[in-house]
Amino acid sequence: MKVRTRFAPSPTGFLHLGGARTALFSWLYARKNKGEFILRIEDTDRVRSKKEYLDEILESLRWLGIDWDKIFYQSERFDIYREYAKKLVSQGKAYKKEGAIFFRYEFKEIKINDLIRGQIIFKELPKEEEVIIKSDGTPAYNFSCCIDDALMGITHIIRGEDHISNTPKQILMYEALVFNIPEFAHVPLILSESGQRLSKRFGATSLREYREKGYLSRALVNYLLLLGWSPGNNREIISLEEAVKIFDIRNVNKTSSIFSFDKLDWVNSEYIKAQKLDDLVKLVKDYLEERKFLSQDIEDDYLRKVVELFKTRISKLSDLIEWAYFCFYDDFVYAPDTEEILRRDLSREMEILIERLAKLESFNRENIEKEFRATAADLGLKAKDLVHPTRVALTGKKIGPGLFETMEVLGRDRVIDRLRRMVKYWGGDHV
Ligand code: GLU
Repeated sequence: MKVRTRFAPSPTGFLHLGGARTALFSWLYARKNKGEFILRIEDTDRVRSKKEYLDEILESLRWLGIDWDKIFYQSERFDIYREYAKKLVSQGKAYKKEGAIFFRYEFKEIKINDLIRGQIIFKELPKEEEVIIKSDGTPAYNFSCCIDDALMGITHIIRGEDHISNTPKQILMYEALVFNIPEFAHVPLILSESGQRLSKRFGATSLREYREKGYLSRALVNYLLLLGWSPGNNREIISLEEAVKIFDIRNVNKTSSIFSFDKLDWVNSEYIKAQKLDDLVKLVKDYLEERKFLSQDIEDDYLRKVVELFKTRISKLSDLIEWAYFCFYDDFVYAPDTEEILRRDLSREMEILIERLAKLESFNRENIEKEFRATAADLGLKAKDLVHPTRVALTGKKIGPGLFETMEVLGRDRVIDRLRRMVKYWGGDHV
């Protein structure tokens, strides 16, 4: 039998981390087994479903590289649900009351063999009645879900563990409708490091926000995979293509996974480092342009050098906006924590450095470093005494990439202008 899985988001909110991981596991299982992956938009709640959410869900799935073979909208299938409800009524398995249709079911013990959690026994069902078609004619979740999973030929239902309690009701509906019962796999929750459910404040923001912060989609997918699954052998970096080959829903952890921003940042930095420079430059360019950060006409060659300078130091693209600001703009201020460094007036020494740098034949890292060190020695300074204020002068910050590489990237004119600005700051006016 052809494996067919689905992801069934309700467009009543943005796609967040937990949903994205469920979609990913479901997608992987279908692709691994050469099956089909179906996207089913559960937009039965006409008031809370919003186009804005739907657009974001589709856009985020695409961004992650999760494609679908078919897409269905439950809002276009109301007639089907009503038809099946009518059938149940005619068979005495459902009844009408106050404009709604209720499912008639009897208590019995239900067992499932969850592919992740093993056997689950439901000893009791909630005693309350189960509405299947509401009085406004829209179907209730359990009913439309069960009908669609059956009609769409879903063989494996992979979804969040918050739906475990719905499973026995759905099984009773499958039985009443004489449908085959699919396999179930309930994916454990993702918790924050303090053991709570992810909240808006911590992690459970929309996928779009991760994209905004400059996480690469492949890195985020890799990280989502690690939340509950492992490729084995202590490996942590794995591509989607490779995961497709070895993923098995049966190997997903039974226990909740802990979301860690540090880990996500680490995975992302690994992906940034592994990018080909040209590809990374393109990503950075698009990212910075979308945020209107690159307002001037930055030359590609310059951007390339800046990216090379920061490639091994950033964990997400947004870091560049803060850390590489000085590469694109002159109007930075000296950070408050540099005060200590700037206390010592080295304006005369700096002027000599400026003169000597101005005369350098070729302004490359090697030459700069040689001349810089020689100047410090000639002035009776330790190199670091000149390095620190020079760094502040050029970048506004105490820490950053290697000073001499930074100088080469900035180029002679910028370097000299900024060193002059430092001299002025010290009140030196010997130029
Ligand atoms: N629309 C439901 C949700 O978003 C789907 C649950 C399911 O996968 O059965 O939680």
